[in-house]
Amino acid sequence: MEGGTRNNMRRQVDMSFSSVLTRSDISAAPITLAKLQNPVKQGFDNLGGDLKKIHRSLNDFSKALDKRFKDKPLPTVNQDALDHELIKRAIGMHFLREGEFEVASAFADDVKKQNGRDNILSPHLVKAFKEMYGILEAMKAKNLKPALAWARQHSASLEARGSDLAFEISRLQFVWLFMGDLPRSLSKALVYARQEFGGFQSRYQQEIHELAAAMAFSPNLADSPYKRIFYNENAWEELGQSFTKEFCSLLGLSADSPMYIAVTAGAIALPVLQKYQSIMQLKRTEWTTEDELPVEIPLPRNYRFHSIFVCPVSKEQTTDENPPMMMPCGHVVAKESLDMISKSIRFKCPYCPSESKPADARRVII
Ligand SMILES: [Zn+2]
Repeated sequence: MEGGTRNNMRRQVDMSFSSVLTRSDISAAPITLAKLQNPVKQGFDNLGGDLKKIHRSLNDFSKALDKRFKDKPLPTVNQDALDHELIKRAIGMHFLREGEFEVASAFADDVKKQNGRDNILSPHLVKAFKEMYGILEAMKAKNLKPALAWARQHSASLEARGSDLAFEISRLQFVWLFMGDLPRSLSKALVYARQEFGGFQSRYQQEIHELAAAMAFSPNLADSPYKRIFYNENAWEELGQSFTKEFCSLLGLSADSPMYIAVTAGAIALPVLQKYQSIMQLKRTEWTTEDELPVEIPLPRNYRFHSIFVCPVSKEQTTDENPPMMMPCGHVVAKESLDMISKSIRFKCPYCPSESKPADARRVII
């Protein structure tokens, strides 16, 4: 009885195998396996080749680093001259400004534990940046409602700054209603325009006229003169940037994190300073003027702050006491020079034939 069952089972197993593999399949199995192995081997070989390339580049990079910085200590910093509290605050603020709220709060907690002082991040700023990132997130999902609400809430301050943000948001909302979700809806966009553009009429007449004129081309906007407004791939990103800039400026902050700017500017300046240091060592001389860089380091235009102005008349650098003054013709001289040349009621600009009155000159803030 038992043996019979075993035999039955064996037969069943044999049958089930034979239903999958015929005799010819079985003889072909080693070939099939080899065929399967080949691509796998090929894959690993390729992978190995790629890794070799990466390792080679890494090696070259570290060799280049060693060569560049060999026996050349990096310029050192006088530790006492650093304000460590300020640096910690700058780091915390950087995390906050990058939207890394958890990292920022963990960092602030650590500093608090270390110093037993107050939190380096003000709750007001944490709340503000959370709001900013919330609005930016919505913007990424093509939802402009929170941005519009924010711009409306701060319209007075934005207008006082001469900001175009509120109109820019409304314009993109109009373009998006018209171009965005399918089916395209001219009527939705027009209803929106009627509701929202009234308040912008006086300041943005030209732009609103453009949008209205574009509607005449609505079946074929891509070939119209208004293509740039309706087919701007970067429109959302640009709006995000101007929103960030305005939001930060209402908080009294720059659009970019100062930490990021300082580190990037430092990275640009470091090789120049290093070269300078080695030259100075060779010549056995030293730069003695404090708080002033011995060489000019060109930085990108948007990294230039607090530009200096040298008066073309006196050849002196302007200061708070002797600020640059612009005459109505647009030429600028230092205040002392202006006082000198403008003894009479009317005087001639030293650079062009225009005549102006001393009272018309305006201080230039740079
Ligand atoms: Zn002039």
